[in-house]
Amino acid sequence: MSCYEHKSEAPEAMTPRAPRVTPIEFRNGARVKAADVPPQGVYRPNDNILTPNMRSPEYVQMSTAAAITLGVMGGRMHRTSCTRCLNLLLTYPEGCRANCAYCGLARHREAERDYADRNFIRVDWPAVPLAQTIDIVAKQGAASAFHRMCISMITHPRSDEDTRTVLKAWTDRIDPQTIPVSILSNPTTMTREDVARLKDLGADIFTVALDAATPVIFDRTRGKGVQSPHSWAHYWEILMCARDIFGPQKFGAHIIVGMGETEYDVLSLVQKLVDLGGHSHMFCFFPEKGSLMDHLPATPRDQWRRVQLARYLIDYRGGRVENMKFDASGQVVTFGLPQGKVDEIVNQGIAFRTSGCPGKFADDISACDRPYGDSPPSNIASYPFQPNGNDLRKIRRQLRIVEKT
Ligand code: SF4
Repeated sequence: MSCYEHKSEAPEAMTPRAPRVTPIEFRNGARVKAADVPPQGVYRPNDNILTPNMRSPEYVQMSTAAAITLGVMGGRMHRTSCTRCLNLLLTYPEGCRANCAYCGLARHREAERDYADRNFIRVDWPAVPLAQTIDIVAKQGAASAFHRMCISMITHPRSDEDTRTVLKAWTDRIDPQTIPVSILSNPTTMTREDVARLKDLGADIFTVALDAATPVIFDRTRGKGVQSPHSWAHYWEILMCARDIFGPQKFGAHIIVGMGETEYDVLSLVQKLVDLGGHSHMFCFFPEKGSLMDHLPATPRDQWRRVQLARYLIDYRGGRVENMKFDASGQVVTFGLPQGKVDEIVNQGIAFRTSGCPGKFADDISACDRPYGDSPPSNIASYPFQPNGNDLRKIRRQLRIVEKT
């Protein structure tokens, strides 16, 4: 039995450890600001040198996959040559002021690692001048490998204004019809007016990183439970603003699967989002190194595959949670569609690809493929490419589907 094949965890078993108190001399990026090393172009996270004093909107961070695809960093990725989404993460020496328990960027890491050096969804995030980034993509035009750009906000007093500046700088040079822009928002600092201004500036899709599937898990992992400022009610308020302002199919929520919720809990949320006109983008919980949940187990693969499949059926194939059957522990027993139809959809493989905002291939194929953001390549949770025959055999085993010989 591998470490991915255990029973799903009870809610209390997924409790984060408590954050330590950060000594005052390490708070708010004091170390980086005191050294004040001027940045010189692309910065690759490196614990052995002083982190430059970089700040959005002049600098943004991007995933290792995006930096390789953009061409500002060398390297190869397992079984994929590029990512289709250029994710631009706002950066400041003070970092994110929230403390989400599963997140590598969280505030409690201030003493251990400077913000621009922190791992996030399992990878490093190089910092790149925004002007250089836009220049490269503008010159590529429609030939760019990127199908979408996404601005990832963080919890910081400048986050709203700098998001608008980054968005405007992008749309001044790059037609949003050619490469549309998504906003991964930070509702804690936002008002309805902020949401509307992003739409007016040309953003295409607005998502809210709800992350937790229930209010109890939300509070435990990113609210009072870990001295973090977020509130479930305000996240929903901004999500509903996004629904009004961005409209059907143009808003959604991120959800992490495996933080103590049942399969019924998460799929009820998926259904609610679809009934509102939106989509869910899913992540498989992985214990991020240095986070307050790094001692906890990754989501069992059978649980993840069932939720992945059921979510795809609800989002794209007319499935409904009330037609699915669940056992007493909230685990999916049947998917509410004829078995032949379910088998056909499993065999197509799209359900097991990374979920997120669409690119140029199809509405149900995400541009945001986040290679190995929620698993190691040796046991892929979200496939950043079309799963092949061997992958599908493995997926069927994980779903406990008996192979016909
Ligand atoms: S608000 Fe986002 S970036 Fe900040 S700690 Fe929470 S999950 Fe991480």
